[in-house]
Amino acid sequence: MKHSDDHIALTFLGGAGTVTGSKILISYRDQNLLVDCGLFQGLKKLRLLNWKQLAIDPKSIGAVILTHAHLDHIGYLPILVRDGYKNEMHSTHPTRALAKIILEDSGKIQEEESERANRHKYTRHAPANPLYTVAEATQSINYFVTHSYLEWVIVNNDMKFRFLNAGHIIGSAIVELIVGNRRFIFSGDLGRSQPLLMHPPDTITETDVLILESTYGDRLHPGIDPKEELKEVIWSTYNKKGILMIPTFAVERAQELLFLISLLKEENNFPGMPVFLDSPMGVDATETLFEYSDWQKLNLTARRSLNSAAQLISNARASRAIVADDKPKIVLAGSGMLSGGRILHYLDRHLGSKKNTILLAGFQAAGTRGRALVEGVSEIKFFGSYHQVKAEVRQMHSLSSHADQSEILAWARHFDQSPAFVFLNHGEPHQADGLRVKLRHELGWNPKIASMGVTYRIPV
Ligand SMILES: [Zn+2]
Repeated sequence: MKHSDDHIALTFLGGAGTVTGSKILISYRDQNLLVDCGLFQGLKKLRLLNWKQLAIDPKSIGAVILTHAHLDHIGYLPILVRDGYKNEMHSTHPTRALAKIILEDSGKIQEEESERANRHKYTRHAPANPLYTVAEATQSINYFVTHSYLEWVIVNNDMKFRFLNAGHIIGSAIVELIVGNRRFIFSGDLGRSQPLLMHPPDTITETDVLILESTYGDRLHPGIDPKEELKEVIWSTYNKKGILMIPTFAVERAQELLFLISLLKEENNFPGMPVFLDSPMGVDATETLFEYSDWQKLNLTARRSLNSAAQLISNARASRAIVADDKPKIVLAGSGMLSGGRILHYLDRHLGSKKNTILLAGFQAAGTRGRALVEGVSEIKFFGSYHQVKAEVRQMHSLSSHADQSEILAWARHFDQSPAFVFLNHGEPHQADGLRVKLRHELGWNPKIASMGVTYRIPV
């Protein structure tokens, strides 16, 4: 990186033209700072980028600031450490707790994948190494330094920052960063205007530079009450005397579903069938919600009924017994897009019966089994063989932890003046462009769509 006194350099090393791999490098004078350090996920072309050397030597980065604990924002940290990074990783308190759960799970998946590749010899590298190990994931957590919202943190003579609430998942943050005489706002992943469990995102009135996510930049969430949507699927499965299987993301989505179930139970709108959260990671993430009770909006009574909405299952033997039981029930289990996890054991046993229902309650990325089910395939492959899809497949559209186009615009309207520089990141090209056009027409802004690997100069 070339350094200069007359401008701040902003380089998108990921999360540009895609929703994964978020990494934004800020360089000024002789200082480099990274906002987010995410893993590329989804299509193979993107995943291969995780194996490429970073465009900057990790040893020359002075600090990392993390917006939240999702893997596409923190999942590259173990590699950064292995490649020589030795400085602080700043996050909120809950982000560190979730990061430990998420990174260690990611390390486990990486180890399992390389083991499978070696066993079936479908690798050109012999033996295949994992992208990183559980031990490397655990080690990277030691570099975390945690903060509360609104607390200013001095990074060096020219840089300081603070976290503001982003309302996306517990501990999620918008980053306000001052570099020299310039103010930067990084939206991170922006939550809904009325999140189920979190406080709505903080509003901001001024900045010189805005880096704004655009995951739902071209779309609106349907105006359906998620509780009603879930209720309908639950009752229709109950009336068939079937099993409702919900592939669930362990962080936030599992807790949102438990919260909705607790509301239905309180209103006596819930049938007499047991509910299980069969996910060690989901159980841990639910505990985090309790541990950091000040960081979300539910009161103690609501948190208690959320916690008792389901039987929480971590133990593998207990899980096997529930899988083997054919009686009506509701099961929430990972992974959310059916790429692995305990949900596959449920599908193995219960996918072949019309009585049962699979409810996809989250985004299903291209190439995943979840997406294939949504698209109506008649069979899916897992555990080495094809399985007939006889169970009913339903999708829930109303749950999302990302602001949609109208919510992003509403948040953007709080700025007193147009920021001098606006970059749209964390979106597929059509999503970012949809938002660009809207911001231009409605607010008169002139946003740029962030391009991967390109350095933008902000004069000081
Ligand atoms: Zn996120």
